[in-house]
Amino acid sequence: MMNCAMCGIHACKNGLENAPKNCPSLKEEIADIKELYKSEENYTIAKISAKLSTQYGRTRMEETMDFAKQCGYKKIGLAFCSALASEAKIIDKVFTYNGFETESIICKVGGISKEIVDLEKSSNPMCNPITQAEFLNKAKTDLNVVIGLCVGHDSLFIKYSEAPVTVLAVKDRVLAHNPLGAIYMADKYYKDKLFPPKE
Ligand code: SF4
Repeated sequence: MMNCAMCGIHACKNGLENAPKNCPSLKEEIADIKELYKSEENYTIAKISAKLSTQYGRTRMEETMDFAKQCGYKKIGLAFCSALASEAKIIDKVFTYNGFETESIICKVGGISKEIVDLEKSSNPMCNPITQAEFLNKAKTDLNVVIGLCVGHDSLFIKYSEAPVTVLAVKDRVLAHNPLGAIYMADKYYKDKLFPPKE
């Protein structure tokens, strides 16, 4: 069982001689997995993101553009939620102003009914992340950017996207799209919701 979340040592950052017994850093498979970084795409993504992760002071939007530029990605796919349509418009303008070509596709594309997943028909069509991914695949985007797709819809989008995916914004309907707000308050206002009393 891996339990990095509960590790207080973080020897992986400072020297493995102090690693705890169940530390995944000590597993032999890591040597084989390291080989995967030698493939061209993985090498580029890993190298550029490692370089960017040491440079501070830029917003996620700026970092996303830097990442795309340095990886040589020209065509950016924007997979956005209809609830963030105005944000998507601005994001599209920022990308194009900065020299990228964009393809953007909304979650409600196709206007398909929720009946296909055996839910009651409603005036609000079902989100359609598989089509979002398939259409961006067809458009041969170099990088796909997720903008506020719902939990689960993002999972399907990522599952079907052929291009690498990065997330610019996650949806949180209560916390202005900042889910960590609940985590920072996990021992205060959100305690009862996140750790409800057990029977
Ligand atoms: S990899 Fe090992 S040292 Fe690093 S956080 Fe996980 S258990 Fe701790």
